[in-house]
Amino acid sequence: MAHATAVDYEPVIGLEVHVQLKTASKMFCGCRVQFGAPANSLTCPVCLGLPGALPMANRQAVEFGIRVGLALNCQIAHRVKFDRKNYFYPDLPKGYQISQHDEPLCFDGELQLPIPDATGAPKVCRITRAHMEEDAGKSIHMDASTLVDLNRAGTPLIEVVGGPDLRSPEEAYVYLTTLKRNLSYLGVSDLSMEKGSLRCDANISVRPRGRQQFGVRSEIKNLNSFRAVKAALEYEIKRHIRVLEAGGTLHQETRLWDEEKLETRSLRSKESATDYRFFPEPDLNLFDVPRAWVDGVRAALPEMPEKRLLRFLHDYKLARADAEYLVGDRAIADFYEAAVALLDNPRKVAAWVVVELARELNERNCDLADLKLTPATLVELIGLQDAGRLNNITAKEVFRAMVESGEGAEACARRLNKLIERDDSAVQAAIAEVLGEFKDGAVADLRAGKQAAMGFLVGQCMRKLRGKANPKDLPALIEDAIRRE
Ligand code: ADP
Ligand code: MG
Ligand code: ZN
Repeated sequence: MAHATAVDYEPVIGLEVHVQLKTASKMFCGCRVQFGAPANSLTCPVCLGLPGALPMANRQAVEFGIRVGLALNCQIAHRVKFDRKNYFYPDLPKGYQISQHDEPLCFDGELQLPIPDATGAPKVCRITRAHMEEDAGKSIHMDASTLVDLNRAGTPLIEVVGGPDLRSPEEAYVYLTTLKRNLSYLGVSDLSMEKGSLRCDANISVRPRGRQQFGVRSEIKNLNSFRAVKAALEYEIKRHIRVLEAGGTLHQETRLWDEEKLETRSLRSKESATDYRFFPEPDLNLFDVPRAWVDGVRAALPEMPEKRLLRFLHDYKLARADAEYLVGDRAIADFYEAAVALLDNPRKVAAWVVVELARELNERNCDLADLKLTPATLVELIGLQDAGRLNNITAKEVFRAMVESGEGAEACARRLNKLIERDDSAVQAAIAEVLGEFKDGAVADLRAGKQAAMGFLVGQCMRKLRGKANPKDLPALIEDAIRRE
């Protein structure tokens, strides 16, 4: 492989992820938090930024923030301090955002990634800080004008700032999926990039490999999917190297990813903290975070995926890839364990979830909650298959129907006319017909000792029965029938 450049450049990447917290009400007022309500219907003087309106902090939002911090192995501040971050934006009616500047709620954490570092141990990305803030509203651009919807204004956010520890777009992708996976265990957010409840800005610079000092970075915004993050980083790495190789200089700037053109373009030179004129928010009191509160939140944390993975490997003797898939989403891991509690065959249940269920989720691009399958109906289906009442093919057909209908396995199999009846006269009739049809062909071959003919006859019977038989049972039945002739 020819190298285009004389210098070997190493990318340095750090991600900032905004997570919308799904509290009942907003961060500093009582307005409901809800996606998709009529524009500006969820607003009040506080989140509209009317003069004289006073904010009050939402305790539940702070508790969700503590939960996020603990799940990312962070220290938790002893008090909550809010600051004003001043900037003008049409969908920011106050002209400032209430955020946290010098005292983030959570700091000094880390996220363990399921990829090896240079020593072979799991790679760790530092979590520099995670702070609370409020979301802005939304601008809706029309042909000749721009409308503003302030329903989102004041929605609680936690911004998770990752250390500059990632070294490739692939690692950035793994960081995001792992972060999302871990947050999915906490029940604090929808984590939907589509709905904007999970948003990511990517910081990227390059440096000659071996050099300690970081290069000049750009921050990429407008990233609408994890795939976009990866593509934008790949683009931006090439651009940085191109500029440096041509003897140019990079400027710290904010760039926008253009999903259509697959390129980044400069939005503005990056503001520094002084541009924001941060100062302590005078309308909110400091409030304490007693250790008893933190301990209580910690005690209520669910088993996190890193630990659950080890337990799945140990208790259920699963292949690592299967266990990783299962713990990758808390809902799926819970579903799996509920099914295993009903049927003590962890590997068989895993095979159904990891192959068939995963395929449905993937093809429909939906979540487990959108499917009507339950652990009990899946276990019932496996039971029918084990009892020989569905074969491997019809079991999968019934599965696909159950996922949509929510029926029990037997009811669904019966409705679809797939259930193999014990002592089935239809099977006997089909065998008799096939033996008659191929008397001089395959049947004669079989009699002459050509075992390959059996496969053909089984196939013909299955076709006549439209799958309603167990192909495993057929050779014996066919031999019986030939012997009787
Ligand atoms: P700011 O407050 O200006 O956004 P931070 O120091 O908080 O700057 O960093 C923001 C993000 O940028 C973090 O995720 C961090 O890891 C990342 N980052 C900082 N410096 C660099 C760099 N030189 N190259 C790549 N990423 C960087
Ligand atoms: Mg930042
Ligand atoms: Zn409000």
